Parts: sequence; C-alpha cells; structure tokens
Amino acid sequence: MSLVVKFWGVRGSLPSAPPPQEWSYHIEGILRNFFSSGYREPSQIAKYLQSMETPLVGGYGVATTCVEIQSPQAQLIIDGGSGIRNLSEAIMKGTTGRSKGPFHIFMTHFHWDHVIGLPFFTPHFIPGCEVHYYGVQPELEKLIRGVFAKPYFPVPFEQLKSKVFFHVLEPRKPYQLEDMTITPYQLDHPDPCWGLKVENGGKAYAHCVDTECTRVTREELAEDLPLYQNIDLMYFDAQYTLPELAEKANWGHSAAQVGLDIALRENIKTVLFAHHDPGARVEQVLELKRQTREYYESREKFASQKDQKLSSVKWDFAHEGLEIYL
Ligand SMILES: [Zn+2]
Ligand SMILES: [Zn+2]
Repeated sequence: MSLVVKFWGVRGSLPSAPPPQEWSYHIEGILRNFFSSGYREPSQIAKYLQSMETPLVGGYGVATTCVEIQSPQAQLIIDGGSGIRNLSEAIMKGTTGRSKGPFHIFMTHFHWDHVIGLPFFTPHFIPGCEVHYYGVQPELEKLIRGVFAKPYFPVPFEQLKSKVFFHVLEPRKPYQLEDMTITPYQLDHPDPCWGLKVENGGKAYAHCVDTECTRVTREELAEDLPLYQNIDLMYFDAQYTLPELAEKANWGHSAAQVGLDIALRENIKTVLFAHHDPGARVEQVLELKRQTREYYESREKFASQKDQKLSSVKWDFAHEGLEIYL
C-alpha cells in the first residue's frame, strides 16, 4: 500500500440531505425491491442490503469536500468542508490516521463549502496539538483566521488551544511531507483554486475539485498538465451535465465527460467524479452515471471504427465514506 484515500465529503456548494418525506419514498422503494427480489425473512435483510451498491441504499452523502490521504509515514487532509467533522470524530476515537497529530490540512480555496467544517475539527481545541495549514494563496493565514471570526463562530482563533502553523506553498513546486510528495497545480475556478498531486511509492492521486476545466488540451494546460499525467486515481469535478455546463459558464464546475476525455488521453487508471450538486439526489447522480457510460461507449465505438485502441479507464461517481487503496 502506497496511498490510502478516503472521501469524507463529496458534495459541492452546500451540505445537503433529502428532506424526510423524500427519504420515506426512498426507503419504500428499497423495501418493495426486497420483496420483489424474492426475499421474505428479516434474517435476509443484511444479505439483501449488502448485495446493493452503497449509494443505492444510503445515497451519495451529505457532507462537502474533505479528503484524507494516508501514506506509510504521513497523513494529509485536503479541505475542511463539513466532511471534516466525521473525520475529526474518527481521529478522536483513534479509528483513522494519526490520531495524535500533527495534522496537515491543504486548502484548495476558501469557498464556504471547503471551510465550513474547520471550526468543528476538534484537534484545534486540544492543548499542544499541532495543526498545519498549507495553501498557495498568500493570504492563507488571514483567511483561516477569518473562519473563526466572531460572530460567525463563538471561539475566536486567538483562543484555540492548539498550535497552528501556516505554510504558503509555491505553485507547481513539490513539497515533501514525510514520505509524501505534494505539488499544487492551478485549476479553473473563480477565486483561484489549486488542485493537488499527491505521490508516494510510485502511486499518484490527482485532486481536481473545484474546476470548470476550461483548459483541456495539453497546450492549454501547459504548466498545469502534470496534474493529469502518471495518475492512478483522479478525483474530478462533475457537478453538471453537459447542457448545464454550457448554461453555467464561469460557475467553476465541470462535467464527467470532460474528465473522461482527459483520462483517456493521459492514460489515467481510475477516475472518481464528485462535487455533486446540493440538489442532486440518488436518481440524478445515477442519471449522470448513465450519461457518462453512454459517452464512454460512444468513444469506444468511434475508436473501434478507426481501428484504434482506447485506453481502459475505470470510473465511478464518489460517495461519502468511500476508501481507495493505491
Ligand atoms: Zn466547492
Ligand atoms: Zn469553489
């Protein structure tokens, strides 16, 4: 194992869960399917649920962006969306990563959905605990302090019991975190946003959320192209359908087909699509999946007509709690 990547929050823009009435319909559908599949006994429930893909039972998740990456010697957290609260609980219980710290948090940018969970990251309040923040934006320290500003949060930054450090990274320059190499590359998003390439032991993860990916060709990507090269797992912004992407130009988010094109060209092994729209329920994400499958098959068909071999890319839409071993 070189890298373990766990997705604690995969939703975009705002934490969002279906209202209770919608959950009732969802549960009704699951129960109907239980009986129509030939199951009858309560003892068969666990087997039935385990036979289904996680999102079909529990949905894609509520929390906004937070990704934890572990290597044999290091732990890195990307962004402090509301997903960091569950990570914080796991750290306090000692069930994930390095529960005593120091903790390292890389900030892609500072939109609400990427900072909203930071005040709920408990290590901030533990005397002597070290929390290190990283970002390319020169205002990193001011922006993090602002998250704790009164009256938005009752405990001001100055009263945190932990020791907090700030590290402004140079664009496109590798930074060594123990045995993990992290390199920031620019994404296409309002209020500059920086993606991250994380490498260890010959494996590489590319974090490409939030991005509209208006630069697609190798020439357009230029100095940011390495973010997409020699990648084992790419996490890509797929908030929109293709027609929505056209309608929402400059909103800063992309579509799965755009990421798939890059993955096929650059031989990326696996792609996970995320930053699901706050309004997207299970059915909408499944529809995005259907459209992506249709697109992939059309690319395969086109390649076979031209006697070309399309590189094989594994892809799916990420759900909260998903863990990938590289
Ligand atoms: Zn976002
Ligand atoms: Zn954003």
